[in-house]
Amino acid sequence: MQEPPLKRRLVIVDDDQFMLTMITAMLGRIGEFDVQGFTDAPAAFRSIRDAAAPPDLVILDINMPEMDGMAFFRQLADIGFRGCVALCSGESDSMLRTSAQLARSYGLRVGGTLPKPPRPDLLRTLLAQCEGERESRRSPANGRERRPEELRDAIEAGDIFCVYQPKIDISSGRLVGVEALARWRHRTDGIVPPAEFIPMAERTGSMPALTRCVFDLALGQLARWREAGIDLIMSVNASVHDLADLSFPDFLNGCAERHRVNPAWVIIEVTESGLTEDERLLVEIVSRLRLRRFQLSIDDFGNGYSTMAKLRDLVFDELKIDQGFTHGAASDERKAAIFHASVQIAKRLGMKIVAEGVEDQADWDFCRINGADVAQGYFMSRPLAPDAMEAWLAAWRLRHGAQFPDGVEASS
Ligand code: C2E
Ligand code: MG
Ligand code: MG
Repeated sequence: MQEPPLKRRLVIVDDDQFMLTMITAMLGRIGEFDVQGFTDAPAAFRSIRDAAAPPDLVILDINMPEMDGMAFFRQLADIGFRGCVALCSGESDSMLRTSAQLARSYGLRVGGTLPKPPRPDLLRTLLAQCEGERESRRSPANGRERRPEELRDAIEAGDIFCVYQPKIDISSGRLVGVEALARWRHRTDGIVPPAEFIPMAERTGSMPALTRCVFDLALGQLARWREAGIDLIMSVNASVHDLADLSFPDFLNGCAERHRVNPAWVIIEVTESGLTEDERLLVEIVSRLRLRRFQLSIDDFGNGYSTMAKLRDLVFDELKIDQGFTHGAASDERKAAIFHASVQIAKRLGMKIVAEGVEDQADWDFCRINGADVAQGYFMSRPLAPDAMEAWLAAWRLRHGAQFPDGVEASS
């Protein structure tokens, strides 16, 4: 067995020499790290690209003259960098968040953000988060990038399976449906989470095969549950690529017929997070303009290409509020504002509102008071293997039945 390296390798990139010195000194007081600092971003990138042992963590200033943070992590993604990135900047919180989101959409592991001037306690937290991120995302064997053929073979070999997360009607406490979430049972690396293979599937063209495999599993399971008298609705994720595929509706029809399930029992969730390449460039360019202090205005809002226009024109049945705006909304005005706005728009357009990321009682209460119809999240249940569903349902009734006037039964 290989010994784990004793010291974490860190690269810090900041065009301000003073910041570099300061962060390096703070790190020295926190623990033993092998730190390399760069004021020149292109030089830092070349050093990471050419290193025999790439760094575990890159702490990156987002506003740098020659190569800003956005360009830096696009290039890190291009070389398949598998360490963590952390963004350090004096820019606004929303700018830091947008940059972190963009980095994630490139499949990078984002350990967190560090506002400037950096504080030792926040730096310590950031390092802990990066460790957590390393642990939670199992690295492929020998640190190599997974090959696209591996996923294709896994789909064919039946190594993809689904777990199911309950969706609860907030006013009655009833189980109304589940969301199917894909997992990959890797032959040597264990369970691989979707964050590690969905972006790759999208990049390398195996998304249609993956989606078809997941729908087949999920509708098969739905039929079994319905047969057992659990009348739930099955939600399945589809990517934007699937919706651009003209053979998709026929496939779905055939799949529903094969499993004898009514299409009205199936909700197709279209993932917004799957930023297309063009959208990523848009975010990169807009963020860069922002960094250079240009002001920006959304013209023709609700008309042109905005998400809202797509919603209005396409008539969705359900709007899911992202976990980022649900969990903690009770104590965060910005989250609450976005939550309220989403509820209002959905209500006006006649859509059902599902709040994702309900992690505790405070989130649940916030959703109930603020107009969400359905809740999904760890507070009720983590995603479950199919055979754990009945036991969970019994426990849920026991735990929460008394709160609701009619008890908590599965909907029919
Ligand atoms: P999603 O569709 O938004 O699914 C919800 C994700 O939030 C799931 O992560 C779920 O485990 C997680 N989650 C649920 N409750 C909570 C909570 O209370 N707090 C927090 N922090 N997280 C919660 P998961 O399973 O890792 O899936 C991640 C994403 O991968 C999904 O997000 C979806 O976009 C994508 N995905 C998963 N399966 C498929 C699939 O079969 N096809 C496609 N196209 N995408 C999929
Ligand atoms: Mg989903
Ligand atoms: Mg979601």
